This record gives sequence, structure tokens and C-alpha cells, in this order.
Amino acid sequence: MSERRTSSPEVHGPASSEDATRSSGSIPLPVPSSSPSSLDLAAQASVALKGIAGSPGVAVGPALVLGDLRASFVRRHVHTAQIQGELDRVKQAVTLAKRTLREVSQRLPIAMREASPILEAYELMMADPALHDRVEQKIKEEKKGAEWAVSEASEEIVALFGPSEGESKDAYILERRHDIEFACDRVLRALVGEDTHHAVRLDEPMIVVARDLSPADTAAMVREPALGFVTAVGTRTAHTSIMARALEIPAVVGVADALASIRTGDMLIVDGLTGQVIVHPTEQAIREARQRSEQHLAFARRLLSARHQPCVTADGVPVALKANVELPAEAILAVDHGAQGIGLYRTEFLYIDRTTQPGEDEQYEVYRAIVEAVSPQPVTLRTFDIGGDKFASTFQLPAEMNPALGLRAVRLALKQPDVFLTQLRAMVRASAHGDVRIMIPMVASMHEMREVRRLLSQACEQVRARGHAFEEHIPLGMMIEVPAAAVMADVFAREAEFFSIGTNDLVQYALAIDRGSQELAPLASPFDPSILRLVKFVADVGAKFSRPVSLCGAMASDPLAAVLLVGLGLRELSMEAAAIPEIKEAIRRLTVGEAERIAELALVEDSADRVQAVLARELSVRFGDLLAGIAEDESHPRSSYPPIPSDPHAV
Ligand code: PEP
Ligand code: MG
Repeated sequence: MSERRTSSPEVHGPASSEDATRSSGSIPLPVPSSSPSSLDLAAQASVALKGIAGSPGVAVGPALVLGDLRASFVRRHVHTAQIQGELDRVKQAVTLAKRTLREVSQRLPIAMREASPILEAYELMMADPALHDRVEQKIKEEKKGAEWAVSEASEEIVALFGPSEGESKDAYILERRHDIEFACDRVLRALVGEDTHHAVRLDEPMIVVARDLSPADTAAMVREPALGFVTAVGTRTAHTSIMARALEIPAVVGVADALASIRTGDMLIVDGLTGQVIVHPTEQAIREARQRSEQHLAFARRLLSARHQPCVTADGVPVALKANVELPAEAILAVDHGAQGIGLYRTEFLYIDRTTQPGEDEQYEVYRAIVEAVSPQPVTLRTFDIGGDKFASTFQLPAEMNPALGLRAVRLALKQPDVFLTQLRAMVRASAHGDVRIMIPMVASMHEMREVRRLLSQACEQVRARGHAFEEHIPLGMMIEVPAAAVMADVFAREAEFFSIGTNDLVQYALAIDRGSQELAPLASPFDPSILRLVKFVADVGAKFSRPVSLCGAMASDPLAAVLLVGLGLRELSMEAAAIPEIKEAIRRLTVGEAERIAELALVEDSADRVQAVLARELSVRFGDLLAGIAEDESHPRSSYPPIPSDPHAV
């Protein structure tokens, strides 16, 4: 099952269009208790907190609040004679923190191995000279104690990333900030003598509440009875969400009031279907939540059990569903969820959170592992899409007024051909192990595609000269995410062997709305008629020139949108693995003719709201269970916690 509801965009709204496509309405606070009970009398009033649905499912249990370590140590000055001792303490703490991380990494089960590179990156961050110089200066010159120095140094480095979550609109940057904070927290914990495992060890099944849960925190809880997660920061793409989904533990992230409103021992409902957290729920709300949990699990199991059925419309027309992956381990999850290959591997994640760029051999091993994991199904490797909202310090990107319109993706690749060739060679070598396709992000001109093709030939020659095996013909395709590429798709069909429509960026560029803007997120709708026309045009071009067209933007993982896209002519969609069973079910319910009729109705509307109204009118009854995450015959109104009002911008 995929998660659909997120918080009200205006409060802790989506930080990317991926989140935006799943945003929902605001939630009234506090919760009106529909049936006062004995529990109500003993407890305080129920309160509903808004958040983002990070991982689906419903959990009920007592809270374990992990304290904010930063607030808990003493800020003390040291004497000159103590300086060396403090420096030594920092050194020992870094060693201890690294060891703890390594231990955590080794305890990861296979589904969680995706965290390992992140953990290694944390280790590197701890060894970062910039951090150490600052810490040293604070101890030596400002005579601050080790804890204080580490904490301040981390705050200063984090500040270099720009404003904090309340103000920043960039999920990527926010996550990098959190990574640095996390790495420093590990050192702080080691300094104050707090052991990682004990910090998060649960004696009984509890819901873990924290400002943020790093992959290491989450991984350390793998064998602990964590019922659910609530974090004060984070988005659907944050590590906590990714890992919670891998563990199939309900999570609500980005609950800004979590630490202020929840105390250890408080009873909670964590509703990862709606993005709500209920503190001090009534007995009735608890009963209903437990029922919802069981119903959701049964529904998700039912959908998952059909995952290997063919994805065909009700009249038997095949629609290929592939997976978007960011981390190599997700390839296994993709296969588990019935993906017919990887439609988008975002390779830029290999370049992020590290101090040096990945070399050819390292990349080759990763690509090869993915290709082998899904073989004989195809894997579309997208060359790095760095720049814009995707930040990788090793590229030393220039400061730009409009990074989304700047040196990003293929532009950066062509500007740094050696880095690009290294990646292309690794991809070419991976082609010896299965069905590999190479896809180029952010293409806006034919010149770019021609240059890429030239470099790809060069990469093949280099691989041949070095004696490595590879497939002689590797299909080269492009993302359609710049409006220029969409309207020139018939021309690009001469150079590109396939297209994949990236609606996350296409919406940003066609509507001129920053994809990271929380404020404008409700307007950045993939249902805007301009986007539907572009999609239809590209689908038609694909059919005319025999170029396969896929769509890998977040809209593909919404059942209503998926049906619309089939009606617009698409026969391949790529999405997060967890959404595949649900989308397959949606597609199996309609004939192509029905989907086309819905698309026709949508195409004559003049706004995204009206398009969504058409979809709701035509499909909400038939898709009631898919939209709720619970089978229709079992669902009942959640009278004891507030309903999510319908949001015209929600998908
Ligand atoms: C897109 O833009 O829709 C897309 C799939 O690419 P990304 O989200 O990685 O920019
Ligand atoms: Mg994109």
C-alpha cells in the first residue's frame, strides 16, 4: 500500500512535489471526543497533531520520547590546563561513535542494508576537518567544554546549509542538515556516555517519538518492539520514512508539535494512512484505530498477494509497472512488490553524503547488483541529476540565483565530461549483466542529446579498450521534464530511444512553481490541464514514432492519476515500489475505453481542481477502498478522531 494523506501544506506541508501530490486538508484541533469514557476522565483531553504520512498503517501504544540531547548537557568553560584533556575526550568520543555506527550497520537485516552507505557517510562527516577545526578552536581559544564545543560547531556548520525547517523549502537540504546534526549527536552521546543501543532500547512495545530518527536510530530498533514512529521533522522522502516503510512500521513524520505535546507514557495513535497522531485518545478512538490497523494490514496483504498477477486493464491491455529506486537495496523490494523492472534509478544518491565522488568500479558494482537483482527485467539507470534541489558537495556547484534553472543534471554532466564518462563507463559495464537502459535527466535541447550520445560511444570504446564485457546496443532515452522537451518530443524522437515523463519537474517548469515551495505546493498540481496536454502529446508522439513512453513522476503512484494516465495513452508507469500493488489493482478495475473516457472529460476542464472533481466523480465510489487504504466492506467512519477534510489539491 502506498500512503496518500499528508499534512495540511500550509502548516507542515509537503517539501517537494512528491509530497505535494499526496497532500491533504487541514485537521481541526483539538479532537472532539465523541464518546467520553473512563479513560477520558483519567487522561487529558485528546489532541490531534498534524504530520506527513511517512509509512502506512495504524499503531496504538504508549510513547517513548527520545530526548533532545542538545538540551541536556552542561555548558561549561574549562581551564587552560584542561584543554588537552577536552581535545582527547572529543577524539575518544569520535572513535566510540564511529564504532557504534559500524556495529549498528552490521546489525542491519537485508531490507535495511540501504542504510549502510548513509552510515558510512556519517562516519566521514565525523572525520570532517571543518568540524574538527571548529571544535578545536572552541576548546582552545574559547575554552569551552567538549560537549559545548561539538554542539556549537555542529550548529554553525548546519547554519551554512541555510534556514531551518520552518523556513526552508528544500527537503534535500533539510535532510543534509539533519545528517550533520545526527553525526554530531552521535559524538555528543559518546561524550556524555550515552550508548546508542540503550538510548533507544525499548522494554515493551512503544511508539518512538523523536525530533528525528536517523537510519542508525531506526536500525538499532529493528529487533526492538517499536510499534510506530513519530518525528518532529522530516518528509516522505526522509530517512525515517524510507526505513519505516522498509520495516513496515507505521510512521508520521514532520509533526512539529510532537516533542512539545507528547510525554513518555502518553497513549498515542499513529495513523500513517492519514498523517495524524492522536495524543490521549479516547477508548473508542483506540478501539477504532486497532480495527483500522487490522483492516489496513488485511487490505495491504490482499493487494500484495496479487502482486504477481499481470498488470492488465479490465479488457486485457497490459500496462507495465516499474519501480523508482534511490538506494540499491530497494531493487529487492521492487521485485517483492511485483515491479516489472526498475523504471528509474536515481543514481545521484550515490554522489550524496560523501566527501569524494564514487569511482567507476564502485558505481559498476552498485549498478551490477541492481541489474542482477531484477534480471531478466530491465533497469533504467538515470545519469546523475545533481544541482537544483539535489545537492552534492563534491561537485562544488556555483552559487546560483535560480539553481533549478541553473547548472543541473545533463548540463552539469556535459560541463564535467570526465565525471560523466566515469559514470557512463560504469553503466556500460553493468550492461553485461542484464537489460540496461540509460536515461538522461533535464534534457532541453537536441544538442545535449547528441553530445550525450557522442560521450556514450566514447565510454563504450573505453570500456572495450579496457577489455570489459558490455552489451553493444544500450538503449539511450531521456526524461521529459522540461516543457521544451515535451513540445519537441517528435523531434527528440530522432535521438531518444525512449521517453520518461518526469512530472515532478515538468510541473515545476511548466507552471513556474518551485517544486520545493510549501506555500505554492497546492498550486503545483500534476492535474493541471497544461500538464495533461503535455503528457498526451508525448504519449501520442511515442505511439506515432514507436518510442516507448513511461511516466516516473510521483503522480504515477496515485490510483486516480494512474487511471487518467492510461486514458491519456501511457502503457508504462514507474513509481515507489510500495505503491505498485495498489496501482495494479486500480488499473485492473477499468477498461482502456473507460480510462479514455475519463481522460477526455479531464482534458476539456480548465483547472486542476476541476480535473480532480471529474476524477472524484467518476472514480471515488469504485476506488473507495484504495483511497482509504482499507477494504470498503470493512471501513467505517472514524468518529473518534477528526476526519480529513477533502482538499481539492490532494490526489
Ligand atoms: C521527476 O522530475 O518527475 C522525476 C521523476 O525526477 P526527480 O523527481 O528525481 O527530479
Ligand atoms: Mg526530475
